[in-house]
Amino acid sequence: MDPIHLCQPDVGKSCGACCGLYNWDDHSRERLEPLFQKKTDLFRSLVRNSGSFDSYRREISELFSQSKLFKTIYNCEFLGFVDGPRTKVGCLLHPMVNDGEDLRDHSFYGKELCASHECPSYTYLTQEEKKAVIYGCDDWYIYGLVVTDIDFVKEYFKIVYNTLGETIDPEKIKERELKAVISDYFRLKEEWRFKSRKKRLGKYYFSYEESHIADIDYQKRLGIDGSRFDKILVSLESEFRSAGELYEAERIIQASIDRFIEVYTHG
Ligand code: SF4
Ligand code: SF4
Repeated sequence: MDPIHLCQPDVGKSCGACCGLYNWDDHSRERLEPLFQKKTDLFRSLVRNSGSFDSYRREISELFSQSKLFKTIYNCEFLGFVDGPRTKVGCLLHPMVNDGEDLRDHSFYGKELCASHECPSYTYLTQEEKKAVIYGCDDWYIYGLVVTDIDFVKEYFKIVYNTLGETIDPEKIKERELKAVISDYFRLKEEWRFKSRKKRLGKYYFSYEESHIADIDYQKRLGIDGSRFDKILVSLESEFRSAGELYEAERIIQASIDRFIEVYTHG
């Protein structure tokens, strides 16, 4: 079986999470997209055309003035858009985008570390889950958020597998209707209406320069024992003001799973 390349899976999207893509207090699409457009433009004019890494770093330092979520993770100045239509984030120093020349030794981590790194999703997501994420997602911003959120992916498909009594055939996600269902679920990572306003990235929250795993205090805040979708809700950075909000959140997730199973089975 061919290994699946999660970082750059196809021509339409990619991930750059471990290079610091989302490691900003404000990591909204509205903030990141212009930042990466600008970095890509600067790299092309100052490094590719003029060979000046110093000028590039000087210009970039102004763009990097915003505060980071997790201080000890390096936000690489060489992460940008690596394709013509600018639908893929990736390494601007990679030989694929520099006519075969590998420039990664100019980076903080260096060529060997950059080339060999694989995040836990490579290990913990099954082949089916990896393909489901790749086939169900056409957008760099959401793709990186989803493919690195192991709980968010695994919990959903665990319920699907348990209901169906078998793993799924991810090739079916290439079909329009099923793809729409799973794409809507993945988009919750960006559009979740119960998102906390605190410093969060998935299940992690950040305080005093450290990261911690968040939880939802159902009993204290909502007067109930818990939720069957706890891991998904934590991954979605949820914060609920009432039990009614939690029930609405559960209804949205359950409706997605039900629809997935219906379309998968009969669609
Ligand atoms: S976080 Fe994982 S999938 Fe994303 S670029 Fe890094 S190694 Fe690749
Ligand atoms: S140099 Fe390394 S850390 Fe920086 S963007 Fe490239 S792969 Fe990522």
